[in-house]
Amino acid sequence: MESGNNIEILVKSSSGDPYTVSFYIDKNDISAFCSCPAGVYRVLCKHIICLINNDDSILYDRNQKELIRQVCAHLQKTNIPSLLTKWKESEELLKRVQRNAKKSKKNLEKAILQK
Ligand SMILES: [Zn+2]
Repeated sequence: MESGNNIEILVKSSSGDPYTVSFYIDKNDISAFCSCPAGVYRVLCKHIICLINNDDSILYDRNQKELIRQVCAHLQKTNIPSLLTKWKESEELLKRVQRNAKKSKKNLEKAILQK
């Protein structure tokens, strides 16, 4: 489903009807639009996130695997992979901090609450 510099990929939805993620490819640039409810509000949805992570588990049509490969190959010409890495690292850090906060609260509870 490739027309010119656009690549359209069908992804699974909970309702059964697929959503369409459209990638608009230009020289060293790429942008994406997803037809899901989050996508139409211009929120970065799980569908776009999966596809730019080279995750084909959300494909509606397994024959479109090659299209993900093409998108990911083009992503390498942009700063998106490094932005993605930064975001993942921040999420990891956030998880660690949340675990520490939980543990600290438990310790405080143990110390202060009546036995
Ligand atoms: Zn979406």
